Amino acid sequence: MDIADRVVLVTGASSGIGEATARLAHERGARVAMVARRAERLDRLVQDLPGSFALTMDVTGESAPAEIVRRTVERFGRVDVLVNNAGRGLNLPVADSGLEQVRSIVELNVVAALRMMQAVVPDMRSRGEGVVVNVSSGTTLMALPGTGVYAATKAALEQFSAVARVELAPDGIVVSTLLPSLTRTEFAGSVEAGESRSYDDLPDDLPFAVQTAEHVAEQILATVASGETGVVLGRDGAQA
Ligand code: NDP
Repeated sequence: MDIADRVVLVTGASSGIGEATARLAHERGARVAMVARRAERLDRLVQDLPGSFALTMDVTGESAPAEIVRRTVERFGRVDVLVNNAGRGLNLPVADSGLEQVRSIVELNVVAALRMMQAVVPDMRSRGEGVVVNVSSGTTLMALPGTGVYAATKAALEQFSAVARVELAPDGIVVSTLLPSLTRTEFAGSVEAGESRSYDDLPDDLPFAVQTAEHVAEQILATVASGETGVVLGRDGAQA
């Protein structure tokens, strides 16, 4: 889908990949709706992106997905593209991951992402078109110590996306998944528990490049344009 004049809804737009995606979509002529919890960040973005619209909301709230879509449709008339990006990490061994930590990351990375996708379907279905890009993670492709529960949430996201892609195709809705590898954002700082990783301390001989959020945003919009799925950003990604 060409995003010029399209309505693009980005969750987790207050920093990192979501912010870069909102900025790029706006630059390419989309009408952008943004969601996150940090109001001051969103206020600044709305000022930077004339005509855009932001909702300060926690996507895990029970009524949040329906409310986000309702208010976006109220403002822009429809939702053409959902970039389902809000997410968080958990850096703990599987054996030591606590119940509340597991529940809260599943609630955000799995349940809220699923409910956001469900919430946009009726509007897209009524018009016979729409695109959902679910932001997963390259960690689902490896057994990296400390990432087990986080990667499991993203694996769940990938699986329901793959099935929804088949189920929603007859309605003209394209569901894609994108797996970014390590990307220089505030993600490391927001990783719950354990020792969060600083991008400045990464070894030089990593088997893949650390990417910029802007590069991942380009890939997200390329995914929207192509309708492809399962794109993995690999070692040839732009260097941060
Ligand atoms: P950031 O921490 O910069 O961005 C995360 C975004 O999610 C923020 O805008 C944050 O906003 C928002 N968010 C978190 N919790 C909630 C919530 N409950 N309700 C609404 N918004 C929320 O990290 P990234 O940009 O790196 O992460 C974006 C996505 O990319 C995540 O899904 C992550 O798992 C994935 N990813 C990241 C990689 C990396 O190396 N950085 C690699 C692979 C995947 P706020 O705090 O204002 O609510």
